[in-house]
Amino acid sequence: MIFKPRTEPKELIILKTLRNRMDLSMAYQQNYISLKKGFEGELLFDLLLENIECECLVLNDLLLKVNNQTFQIDSLIMLKDAVYLLEIKNYSGNYSYKTDKIFLKDQAEITNPLIQLYRTESLLRQLFLKFQFKTSIHPLVIFINPEFTLYQAPHGVPFIFPSQLNGFIKKLHSSESEVPEDHIKTAERLLTLHIDENPYQQLPPYHYHQLRKGMYCACCQSFAISVQGKKCTCTSCGNKESVESAVVRNVKEFKLLFPNEKVTTSKIYEWCQIIDSRRRILRILKKNFKSTDILRRMHFE
Ligand SMILES: [Zn+2]
Repeated sequence: MIFKPRTEPKELIILKTLRNRMDLSMAYQQNYISLKKGFEGELLFDLLLENIECECLVLNDLLLKVNNQTFQIDSLIMLKDAVYLLEIKNYSGNYSYKTDKIFLKDQAEITNPLIQLYRTESLLRQLFLKFQFKTSIHPLVIFINPEFTLYQAPHGVPFIFPSQLNGFIKKLHSSESEVPEDHIKTAERLLTLHIDENPYQQLPPYHYHQLRKGMYCACCQSFAISVQGKKCTCTSCGNKESVESAVVRNVKEFKLLFPNEKVTTSKIYEWCQIIDSRRRILRILKKNFKSTDILRRMHFE
């Protein structure tokens, strides 16, 4: 049972939007690429768990704090007798392992995911102790990408390689199905402690005036959109979307980028650029968002 589903990280959504609307420095481009790759890897792992038969509890993407230290969990699988703490890595290419260090073949050292995994394990154990929840924690790094090879990996390190994934899933399938009540309570407590706002997100400074205005295609991100009647058509890839859904998407994007700005008809008219009338924008806002009328200047939540 998926107790907490995975959602696209806010940092990734904002970077995706910003790279369409402004020039990102190389460092932020790289951050975007690595977040995107990581998220794609996590989704691949979720697909493997989709048809799992045992009644385990799966909690994805947790951000927790214990004893003033914050830690993040990619996936936590709670079974009757054990809890699997999973760090999912979507690395591709050839790597080698030398005395607890991992190197990209013939190149620089990368951070060994075990360092993070053991820190997370220790903090999770401290949290479970606070809950008085007794279980054994099995920390594992899951290498999800079939094009990943790690040479000279020693025996006994808690790594699951792509060729071992099916075996791991089978093992989960065959585990005892019933989940005790205290596991459900613990999962609920973890959910209430989950922190929504990631304090480590790395976003460039940006201002409204420096961002490109207009609506871009939801499929190919091209700004070449033409509006005819109730439909928007992308002249680059041919994707069609209703004007209403495109405007709603853009309002959500505006709210995400500028959470402290009030959403007004004029601002969205300017933000979207290609919608011919303010009345049309107003109609869509009224239909899809809660309006608040303050001093006759209507804005939307
Ligand atoms: Zn397109």
